[in-house]
Amino acid sequence: MNTDPFTAHESNVRRYGRSFPAVFTKAQGATIWDEAGNPYIDFFVGSGALNYGHNNKNIITPAIEYLVGENILLSLDMYTVAKREFIEVFVDSILKPRGLSYKIQFPGPTGTNANEAALALARKYTGRSSVMAFTNAFHGMSLGSLAVSGSESTRELGGVARHDVIRVPYDSYPNQTFDSANYIDCVLGDPGSGIEKPAAIILETVQAEGGLNTASAAWLTEIQRICRTHGVLLIVDDIQAGAGRTGEFFSFEFAKLEPDIVCLSKSLSGSGSPFSIVLIRPEIDIWKPGEHSGTFRGNNLAFVTAGAMCRMWSDREFTAGVERTAVNLQRHLDRLVAKFPECIEQKRGRGLMAGLKCRSRAGVGRVHDVAFENGLLIESSGPNRDVIKVLPPITITDDELDHGIAILDRAIQEQADDD
Ligand SMILES: *Cc1c(COP(=O)(O)O)cnc(C)c1O
Repeated sequence: MNTDPFTAHESNVRRYGRSFPAVFTKAQGATIWDEAGNPYIDFFVGSGALNYGHNNKNIITPAIEYLVGENILLSLDMYTVAKREFIEVFVDSILKPRGLSYKIQFPGPTGTNANEAALALARKYTGRSSVMAFTNAFHGMSLGSLAVSGSESTRELGGVARHDVIRVPYDSYPNQTFDSANYIDCVLGDPGSGIEKPAAIILETVQAEGGLNTASAAWLTEIQRICRTHGVLLIVDDIQAGAGRTGEFFSFEFAKLEPDIVCLSKSLSGSGSPFSIVLIRPEIDIWKPGEHSGTFRGNNLAFVTAGAMCRMWSDREFTAGVERTAVNLQRHLDRLVAKFPECIEQKRGRGLMAGLKCRSRAGVGRVHDVAFENGLLIESSGPNRDVIKVLPPITITDDELDHGIAILDRAIQEQADDD
């Protein structure tokens, strides 16, 4: 295996190449192959950026046709046919059936670009500077997003001050008995609390990087009510939990939220092509023309693949398949929790955004390594990296899911036998 160019020339910052020491070359659906021809089931899926699997035929075929047709690839924010078609299908297949009405902003192509735009707009709209963000949140790697993230190492990156963030406890933090929504309601209503009114509350409905912590529907609706009562905008960072990961298109549908601003990226293009959007309640869209910009706001190949992905959500067979796979996955994980009580503390997450909270970080490291040796890509998350993150493609076949789970089962077994 030749990894010399990486070790000799790529920055020391590289991470996943170290944790998955193979050189990958080919992928289809839930399977990825290294150059020696070894297959791996992919429960990592680009950290949630490949929810529809690798090279999904429904998504890639229109992209191939688009590429050979002398079509436009980059257009900043000019009007193009591909962009018009994406907007139409997003409105018709995603927003309208859910009774949602949003303006669509196209920021730069990454998740953190979307969050920065959302935070800037919320501050501009309210004229306030601070933002409330939660314990264990992750929002990205640029300064505004870093500031609202929870992790110590993340926040301190960049070595400059992070102002204007009010840290508040997420649902069930620090324990089940503390009512964090009530706490937030109190401090916002109390002129003596010492906490200024923020422009927005930014949250993830499932904290993927934070350890697959889930917020309940009741807590989320209460946070939305609090936002409305106090005139604070609600921003849902649906970058990893959205675009189908929890089993529905938006992760907040189960709680019937209507956030003021929603950020989508990661799996939004359906293909791994970089793409993000900010959904803005129409009355909040007070941007002046050209006030916010970015070169790569017009990735037309992503418009084509994202449109194909959105169309899939109008297909009942597809949505029923995703729901069924989510139930299967949860059942598999319940079985693992029952089988390995000495290793696994609890099941975490929701739908296909699942995890296993383990009793030791070292144990998770061993499970990861053994799983990799046996042909499974899986990652860990959480402040102590003791949560196994189980993120199969939402389109995974039953056979591939069973196979991946069997490898995971064996890896946990081996780890249990070692202890
Ligand atoms: C990945 C992620 C981001 C950042 O997206 P990038 O494309 O890496 O900038 C922000 N929020 C959440 C919840 C994420 O999972």
